[in-house]
Amino acid sequence: MNNPFVPSPKVPQPSVLRVGGVVPFTATDYPNALAAVVFCQGCPWRCGYCHNPHLIPSKSKQLLDWPEISQWLETRRGLLDAVVFSGGEPTAQPALLEAIAATHAQGFRIGLHTGGAYPRRLKTLLPHLDWIGFDLKASASGYVHVTGVTDSERGAFESLTLIQRSGVRFEVRTTVHGALTSPEELRAVAAILEERGITHWVLQPFRSQGCDNKALLAHADKAVVLDEALLRALRERVPQVDVRY
Ligand code: SF4
Repeated sequence: MNNPFVPSPKVPQPSVLRVGGVVPFTATDYPNALAAVVFCQGCPWRCGYCHNPHLIPSKSKQLLDWPEISQWLETRRGLLDAVVFSGGEPTAQPALLEAIAATHAQGFRIGLHTGGAYPRRLKTLLPHLDWIGFDLKASASGYVHVTGVTDSERGAFESLTLIQRSGVRFEVRTTVHGALTSPEELRAVAAILEERGITHWVLQPFRSQGCDNKALLAHADKAVVLDEALLRALRERVPQVDVRY
């Protein structure tokens, strides 16, 4: 078998998952489990704080070969508990369902990192998922400011509703950069979570690593808006607010 972590010269078929990277081992991307992460290529959004901008284009010359990764996962049975499909936006790809179903059949728990841009596709994936890390970008009116895409909130909130109804375990996370997610915006998101009965929220302060947005990087010193007073106010609406650096 070829090394699955070296870009393949083969051009993948349209029905094959386009993979831009793999982390073979992590203890932090799936709760209480050892996992591999598969980074899917392509995302319809353009978040300024994106720390994987190379995964945004749907095409890349650096794609890894999914069938080889799947074969490699076969050798990880008993060593890894879970496989997390991340991105990019994994649900952008029609081939995700088959890849997830095959990986589930190998005996791995399946995690999904998603912003919820494709609710209809997400719905077909839910029966195969064990855990979802859902990136809630902003309140409905704040979405376009973060994603750069008009109406992006529609898919996101529809997806969140589907996830809540599915019974699949999930975690809501929000990346915080003061220029995109102000304290007022965070208060608005907290009110939405309270209204939806979501009691746990993870805030992820902006990390400059990987980000290529010069304006946000220039104001990285203003990125952290999470002082104690704000966190107290957010916790009045959402009982468990964690800050994850
Ligand atoms: S949704 Fe995620 S991958 Fe897509 S641009 Fe935003 S941060 Fe980057």
